[in-house]
Amino acid sequence: MERKILHSDANAFYASVECVLNPDLKGKAVAVCGSQEERHGIVLAKSELAKRAGIKTGMTNWQAKRLCPELVIVPPRHDIYAKFSEALHEIYIRYTDYVEPFGLDECWLDVTRSSRAPYDIAEDIRQTVKGELGLTVSVGVSFNKVFAKLGSDMKKPDAVTVITRDNFKDTVWRLPCSDMIYCGRATTEKLKKLGVRTIGELARFPQDVLLKVFGKNGGKLWQNANGMDSDPVSRYDTCEQAKSVGHGVTCVADLVNAEEAGTVIVSLTQEIGQKLRKMRLRARGVQVTVRDKDLSFESWQAQLETPTQSAAVLAAAGSELLKKRYGWNKPIRALTVSAIRLESVDKPDQLSLFQTDDKRERVENTLDAIRSKFGDGAIRPATLLGESKLPPHGKNNL
Ligand SMILES: [Mg+2]
Repeated sequence: MERKILHSDANAFYASVECVLNPDLKGKAVAVCGSQEERHGIVLAKSELAKRAGIKTGMTNWQAKRLCPELVIVPPRHDIYAKFSEALHEIYIRYTDYVEPFGLDECWLDVTRSSRAPYDIAEDIRQTVKGELGLTVSVGVSFNKVFAKLGSDMKKPDAVTVITRDNFKDTVWRLPCSDMIYCGRATTEKLKKLGVRTIGELARFPQDVLLKVFGKNGGKLWQNANGMDSDPVSRYDTCEQAKSVGHGVTCVADLVNAEEAGTVIVSLTQEIGQKLRKMRLRARGVQVTVRDKDLSFESWQAQLETPTQSAAVLAAAGSELLKKRYGWNKPIRALTVSAIRLESVDKPDQLSLFQTDDKRERVENTLDAIRSKFGDGAIRPATLLGESKLPPHGKNNL
């Protein structure tokens, strides 16, 4: 049976959420920027008006301000975006159990089993999201995930695009290869050298040459260009299964300052990093939970700008979060760090801008290999060599 796949993408997600929450921003050029600090912050998202003024994701704040002096810059509020993301998912699962998130603001839906036409469902979703959340989405409708995603990019904001078996050669084949998911910058460059610029040229290119140049991925690229992608949409609950990888400890003596807590966090994240690499998962967020000496709990989350498996990145984010949120009125008795909002490493990152730190990942993979050969104590971060209030290894974990 022909599959019916939708890909729904919330338009200018962060900026749109900010506009929903603060109506004063409506009708203004708005950019959500990573840091308010004058030169170093970059644009993470921009409203439709900011986009029209030429603002691009990844620009520095000062470039953006120079281009559009009336631009309103707001800091990101990742906790709130995560809530809106969940609210979007709640709408999607009314239509099917097969809802697979991709980043915070995009989802695939498989509605093959529905008796309704996929276009009608897409229209319904577009209107429901607008009515209930005040956000706009663009939806691609197709017979596979690759074309559905492509479709959601073709008309936006607030639109539905249908790519069928009959029209894909006319609609998709004229587009550049880089418009297609899984065709990153390096692949695009290599394809250019082969004289392949459009998806149509890729589709008509000899598959055996692609296999020689790109290996298995070459075959996949060729199939995707020909509308032969058969990757299934995951069930929503399977995505939920591995929601987090956490590790906690009750300390031998209460922690009294950020430095002591930092050492514990570095230790906890070592194992989290190893687990993530073993499970082939990357985290998009970190959560820190503390229990103070009176045994009351507090927990905070932060979004990571780059999805990661790196213990060092998780440790830095966890320490930063604790520093920002914990007042140190009471010493800490127990501490748990969790890698949250997990995704498979086999999924390419949504924004090539936020490339994962390959070098760091390679180093940490090497460390894992050494540890598995010589034991966990073989290599430890320098921070852990001094005195700490950690219990002996493997004991007393929460
Ligand atoms: Mg989006």
